[in-house]
Amino acid sequence: MSGTFLVTGASKGLGRSIAIAIAESGNNVIGLARSSADLDHIGQKLRDISAHSMAIPCDLGSSEEISTTVDHIKSKYEHIDGIIHNAGTIKPIANMFEVKTSEWANLIRVNLVGVQDLTSSLSKIIGGEKHTRIVTISSGAAKRSLHGWSAYCVSKAGLDMWTKCVAEEGGDRNISALAIAPGIVDTDMQKTIRRADESDFPMLENFIDYYKKGELTDPDVVAEKLLPFCLGVTGQNGDRLDVRNL
Ligand code: NAP
Repeated sequence: MSGTFLVTGASKGLGRSIAIAIAESGNNVIGLARSSADLDHIGQKLRDISAHSMAIPCDLGSSEEISTTVDHIKSKYEHIDGIIHNAGTIKPIANMFEVKTSEWANLIRVNLVGVQDLTSSLSKIIGGEKHTRIVTISSGAAKRSLHGWSAYCVSKAGLDMWTKCVAEEGGDRNISALAIAPGIVDTDMQKTIRRADESDFPMLENFIDYYKKGELTDPDVVAEKLLPFCLGVTGQNGDRLDVRNL
């Protein structure tokens, strides 16, 4: 029987690959990202694979847009079998004593507060009689401070704990949660990192080297490894996994 899965950040990169992998496994996918031609394109592709799929434009930095999007989802679907909280931004890459607080706060809003907002707004159509699996996309930066990435590191560390809290409180509601670190993936986020100013990000050369040495993983390969965890066919709850160990 097919389920319905919500994938944030589905317009490109890892989220796009995850959305396609879930649709190709016989499920409906709702893909979210900000409005763009890329989002329109993935929406069409998902519908071609699985007729009841759709893409919805939503800026996860806006509680108003999350509210409108959730109303739209509730009008179309009775139950969500999985949420893949994949959307994320690395910007601003900047010294924490000089960065604009509004930019720092926006990252936390998109990478962390939006995750809580979207999930709690969907509470009436997740879990209950049917299980819902929630997956968050973590990062090595959740465990390790990187100079210039303070907002990103804090958001991912917070997201790991958010995932544990879902595992704790979701048990009564038939909701399980996992955090998964995807390794270094060949996406636009890595391009943004390689374009950073070395004075803001002293590890710049290391990331350029990872790219030059071919150490970045294809997002389709990562999505394939993540698939069983996203579909909830694995039993873990509250764990933090690393794709490189799967
Ligand atoms: P990406 O190619 O830059 O894609 C990021 C996705 O997030 C896009 O679909 C983007 O959509 C969406 N997004 C960004 N801001 C948004 C907003 N305000 N509202 C809605 N959607 C938004 O990056 P990626 O590498 O695939 O990243 C996917 C996830 O993996 C992120 O959580 C990232 O932190 C994590 N991760 C990546 C790496 C890596 O090496 N690439 C390593 C560790 C963890 P629009 O811009 O079209 O709105």
